[in-house]
Amino acid sequence: MIIRLKKDSAANNVKALFDYLNEKNIAWHEVVNQKLVVLPKINSIELPQQLTCVETTYPISTHYKLASNNWKSKTVIDVNGVEIGGDLFNIMAGPCSVENEDQIFQTAEFLASLGVKFIRGGAYKPRTSPYSFNGLGTQGLKLLKKAAQQYNLRVVTEVLDLSVLDEVAEHSDVLQVGSRNMHNFYMLRMLGKTNKPVLLKRGFQAKVVEWLLAAEYILSGGNEKVILCERGVRSFDPSSRNLLDLGVVPLIKELSHLPIIIDPSHGTGSANRVIPASMAAAAIGAHGVLVEVHPNPQQALSDSDQAITFSQFKELLVNTQLLLNALGKHTDTESTILNSVRL
Ligand code: PEP
Ligand code: MN
Repeated sequence: MIIRLKKDSAANNVKALFDYLNEKNIAWHEVVNQKLVVLPKINSIELPQQLTCVETTYPISTHYKLASNNWKSKTVIDVNGVEIGGDLFNIMAGPCSVENEDQIFQTAEFLASLGVKFIRGGAYKPRTSPYSFNGLGTQGLKLLKKAAQQYNLRVVTEVLDLSVLDEVAEHSDVLQVGSRNMHNFYMLRMLGKTNKPVLLKRGFQAKVVEWLLAAEYILSGGNEKVILCERGVRSFDPSSRNLLDLGVVPLIKELSHLPIIIDPSHGTGSANRVIPASMAAAAIGAHGVLVEVHPNPQQALSDSDQAITFSQFKELLVNTQLLLNALGKHTDTESTILNSVRL
């Protein structure tokens, strides 16, 4: 159950609620700065009228509470003037890794010229092998921020480890939690204490309920800005890098109020499949896509097979926009882009 407290409730009235719950041996969790109290073990109870701080209560029977849409229908996150989870389909794009100044500035200039609002790129990379390119670290973050500032883009980049959280937060607008870190519960808790939007990738072996509980870690810390990102799960079939679970989009909408975007790059693992998968994401109702694009994919230091070229990216944008327009929807890129890049 979730209890919503009255906005102006006095501290002693809130204390009376906690005293009552303690007396009844009911576990509770107060969500910092949100006027919300979660009762994790109780689906629904009648609270005495004398507890005047209570505005309303929401019965919730799932393990996750704050991530459920039983108490909130929609979360729209404002990232420096651009909404995620609102009416527009968000396009987030950039290389897998920040590699050098030329690469990231070229990409930023290209994206900005098409009206794209978000640039992605890893400075700290979760690579399977310690001998692979592990990212430029601090230098990469600085380059990314500089390029984003020059071209008025918002930065999405990964927090690989708690030890780099402050540094990454200082250089970015959206904190990405990678698939391998979805189960890093202590880090999720710490992200709950920040006020930056968190893009939470689905663990490649995670059930939907586990993913929503990972989101719950962040939400329960008081950070309500969580964006879910489906990036494919590991399957029995080696034909594609991952199995992109597109059906999870309507499923998440049945269960949660959180925005959900699709990563068609890791989801398919192949540049040729990124455009159709992006269109499918738009068609199935995702709130956006996170796409890997590179000035020269063959030379990419990570994920070169799935990076699309600038010209493929234009095609992706046009096709996705045309499809959404047919559905009466729009992307967050400028509408004029359609004419300027029509192929
Ligand atoms: C990435 O976005 O480059 C990345 C490493 O993603 P994932 O965590 O989904 O593998
Ligand atoms: Mn990648």
